[in-house]
Amino acid sequence: MAEILVLVDHVDGEVKKVTLELLTLANRLGEAAAVWVGQGYEKAKDKLAEYGAGKVYLATDEELTSYVVAPKAALLAQLVADKSPGAVLVPATGEGKEVAGRLAVKTGSGVLTDVVDVADGFVAEHSIFGGAIIAHARVRTGTPIIAVRPNAVAPEASPATPAEEQVSVTLSDADKGAKIVERVVQEKGERPDLTEAAVVVSGGRGVGGAENFKIIENLADSLGGAVGASRAATDAGWYPHSFQVGQTGKTVSPQLYIAVGISGAIQHRAGMQTSKTIVAINKDPEAPIFELVDYGVVGDLFQVAPQLTEEINKR
Ligand code: FAD
Repeated sequence: MAEILVLVDHVDGEVKKVTLELLTLANRLGEAAAVWVGQGYEKAKDKLAEYGAGKVYLATDEELTSYVVAPKAALLAQLVADKSPGAVLVPATGEGKEVAGRLAVKTGSGVLTDVVDVADGFVAEHSIFGGAIIAHARVRTGTPIIAVRPNAVAPEASPATPAEEQVSVTLSDADKGAKIVERVVQEKGERPDLTEAAVVVSGGRGVGGAENFKIIENLADSLGGAVGASRAATDAGWYPHSFQVGQTGKTVSPQLYIAVGISGAIQHRAGMQTSKTIVAINKDPEAPIFELVDYGVVGDLFQVAPQLTEEINKR
């Protein structure tokens, strides 16, 4: 069976959940081989083994993490040439998608982004045209490069004993185009990361003001979820832009997405419509969000959301 390369997403050795999801998917498609770039592998080793990385390609040369994105694409391109993998899986995050695009150019391969599932023959289900269409597509040229959305696959432990191989790549001047001069660690609150959370509760213009976002936070906390917001809410300054969900915000694909006081504009849908179960609370029965939902509540959010929070907290 062919190796399926998985680019590990980590911060100083803390492996992101999406990597475990990609390893699970990779083992369904072939033999998962993790590609590690940077420091902190010792911290991550057991986790990668637990989730089935039969092989780990280790690139720990500090130069590779001194520049933005391009070195990862250069390294993967070299591995594609040397190891002939069946496919390369990367997380469909901002960085992951940029790596995917650069890698596709370097290897002359096709690329599929915003993928939520991959079936036999590398037929991928993905969201295209800003989320307007769900397509099934297969790469016909080169090595399939597939950017998979976080939360699209349930991670399954499947212990392996990884064979480790040190790898490196010589960077070209172009790969050194953007040097990292400073790293600022974003403050981590109590809530899960928006793009990784299994539950996301988002508030929109209907919430009516920054102070009312407490209602959204309370509901999110009752479910152990993350808070999101529509652009109308972030543009109004009611919630930070880093929590915006949609075409020009974050893409989320949780198990449960609750849209509160959000109309369901196409640009908002683009960031959430591949969520597994979608619930909306909106006082307008004609709101377009109801075309998309699994469960809809027509009602005033100021009544419905606190009641829902209270009921959940009782359990
Ligand atoms: P509205 O459309 O105003 O909807 C508010 C909803 O709240 C209504 O349906 C109303 O019935 C309901 N409501 C009001 N009061 C209550 C109440 N008391 N109880 C229950 N329901 C109530 N938008 C994004 O979200 N993310 C993006 O990334 C994004 N990118 C964009 C990119 C471009 C290029 C453009 C042009 C637009 C983009 N937008 C984006 C904006 C998008 O088009 C919409 O304007 C926006 O999503 C609307 O936000 P909303 O649903 O919160 O507000």
